[in-house]
Amino acid sequence: MAILEILKYPDPRLKQESRPVEHFDDALRAFVQDLEETMRAGPGGVGIAAPQVGRFERIVIVDVSSKPKIRHHGRMVLINPEITGWNGFAVGREGCMSVPDYTGNVIRAERIRLEALDEFGNAVAYDCEGYEARAVQHEIDHLDGLLFLDRLVSRRNDLFRRKVYQAKPDKEKN
Ligand SMILES: [Zn+2]
Repeated sequence: MAILEILKYPDPRLKQESRPVEHFDDALRAFVQDLEETMRAGPGGVGIAAPQVGRFERIVIVDVSSKPKIRHHGRMVLINPEITGWNGFAVGREGCMSVPDYTGNVIRAERIRLEALDEFGNAVAYDCEGYEARAVQHEIDHLDGLLFLDRLVSRRNDLFRRKVYQAKPDKEKN
């Protein structure tokens, strides 16, 4: 297992489109383990996409079970995922390990139907809603070279700098 390096905006590789996975072998499963470990090592890591660590294949992991009081499916490994149904719209705040200094308000479908393969090549399907549906849509965007920054209606109104710890400056005036 290994924690992989996360590409950070504005790295141009984050705009690259990822290709479908074709081989469901031990090498793929080892990579999925590393990707999951990298997600869990990140602050608030509820999702990750392979291109964020420079592997341009259609692999994402989502696990929002750490969030209280929401419906979820636990750990989902989603390979070659397709969203096959959408319902409703909602605005919500998103962050991203590749955009560590900002959060943003993004419009997403409230409920989605999702079809994918797991790391063994088995077909899986999920009906997701709310925060989990949002996380899945965010991660699938990475596979198409899109960041939440590309989804903001207005950078001026919908982009927020994260609060970071700063040492208290010495008082210059009294
Ligand atoms: Zn992201």
